Amino acid sequence: MTRILAIHAHPDDIETLAAGTLALLAAAGHGIAIATLTAGDCGSAEAGPEETGRIRQGEAADAAAMIGADYRCAGIGDLAVFNDDPTRRRVTELIRWARPDLVITSAAADYHPDHEATSILVRDACFAASAPNYRTGPSAPLEAIPHLYFADPIGGRDRDGNPAPPDFAVDIGPWFETKRQMLARHASQQDWLLKQHGITDYVGSMVAWSKKRGREFGVDYAEGFRHYRNHPYPDAPLLQTLVGAALIAV
Ligand SMILES: [Zn+2]
Repeated sequence: MTRILAIHAHPDDIETLAAGTLALLAAAGHGIAIATLTAGDCGSAEAGPEETGRIRQGEAADAAAMIGADYRCAGIGDLAVFNDDPTRRRVTELIRWARPDLVITSAAADYHPDHEATSILVRDACFAASAPNYRTGPSAPLEAIPHLYFADPIGGRDRDGNPAPPDFAVDIGPWFETKRQMLARHASQQDWLLKQHGITDYVGSMVAWSKKRGREFGVDYAEGFRHYRNHPYPDAPLLQTLVGAALIAV
């Protein structure tokens, strides 16, 4: 069994970008954990931040439970994810808690500042997690730096709106309905996304995105990933191997 940690900025990001792949991996018997850096506390125009964060953590935990995954939140505020020393230690502690062989996180360039900060924090925390003298909390250091992958940015576009092609894609067709139901658990976001983002159909926009990625790779639904191979991160294609026949090479 391989242990996989998917860690992104906000509740619903992982469901939008990588839940089909996680459902496939869970069904194959691998151990899955999902974490968010924030509780999504700004995601409401009606409820205050504490109540919003509480509701959204509950939705994220429900969505994770659908594939038997654990869920944990790092407790950082929305729009307050910064690449600083205390936050990096908190993210490293989260990684040590999950003890992953493989980490999936946010794309380095994405529309939201929390997404970009999450990407660099997680990249660096993966490096720090196996350093015994880097103190973070109760969890023991990892034995080794985990394999690291970046999910697609939202809409497959970088912060300037340019296309961000993945290294490879995963055919998530058989797992798409699970992914759709996981995202639908984030019911509190429907009204907020209409107000803040002008999105009238929250789940529908994820469906359209997964279909678009799929079309680019000749399947109904797909998710794309980039493999971070820079020294000293492992360069063996672990995720590509684990997804087996669902792998679509570029
Ligand atoms: Zn987000």
